[in-house]
Amino acid sequence: MRFTYVTLFANLIEGYFQDSILKRAIESGKFEVAYLNPRDYSASKHSKVDDTAVGGGAGMVMTPQPLFDALNVLEDDAYIIFAAPVGKQFTQNDAKRLALKSHVVFVSGRYEGIDERVIETFADEVFSIGDYVLTGGELPSLVMSDAIVRNIDGVLGNSESLEYESFETPLLEAPSFGKPPIYEKMGVPSEYLKGNHSKILALKLALSECKTKYFRPQQLLKHKIRTSYEK
Ligand code: SAM
Repeated sequence: MRFTYVTLFANLIEGYFQDSILKRAIESGKFEVAYLNPRDYSASKHSKVDDTAVGGGAGMVMTPQPLFDALNVLEDDAYIIFAAPVGKQFTQNDAKRLALKSHVVFVSGRYEGIDERVIETFADEVFSIGDYVLTGGELPSLVMSDAIVRNIDGVLGNSESLEYESFETPLLEAPSFGKPPIYEKMGVPSEYLKGNHSKILALKLALSECKTKYFRPQQLLKHKIRTSYEK
């Protein structure tokens, strides 16, 4: 699996891969990372990549030429994703689906965004990471790639940890407790301590339902509809 980041600010992304699980995943060859800087493809004398908008309006727009030339060097297997607030919401299902691709390219916008013709020509998908506006696409690209990498076979030490995670089913994950069982006079649900796995699972399911009802009532509704069909 390969990620290519098309960005004016590779340094904002590089640091994230220099520690922890993602560093180990790169070292063990689970995925690799490359960068393309549109500025290196600019045909203008001063390597310009932005200009004022046609038709007026505040701010600068990333112009088509450097991005067209940068994206045209990509091989046929490249699956190109643009980060944009107007895109569809990125979800766990997208992360799982994209983990099966051989080469995912993330294009980060800056300024007031990217010339629409670039997106129309190259985008396989356009994703937003939430209903707010960030300064650039580097954080969204990292958020999406982190979520994808966790789903590549062998990246997480214990693949069971994926199975019970939030968003794997409509229910959110049950609360977790680390040792010691009593801390600052606060205990954990006593069933967790008794070692009866079927009872622990039943309690976790009930706690998952409570959490989902509190944080995501709509999700709980989906879960109830799904389980009533299964009965
Ligand atoms: N003018 C644009 C708008 O109102 O939709 C916002 C441009 S934003 C300042 C610059 C870049 O940040 C975008 O081109 C995009 O790549 C990235 N970006 C900002 N917020 C984002 C979000 N919620 N999801 C994905 N990308 C985002």
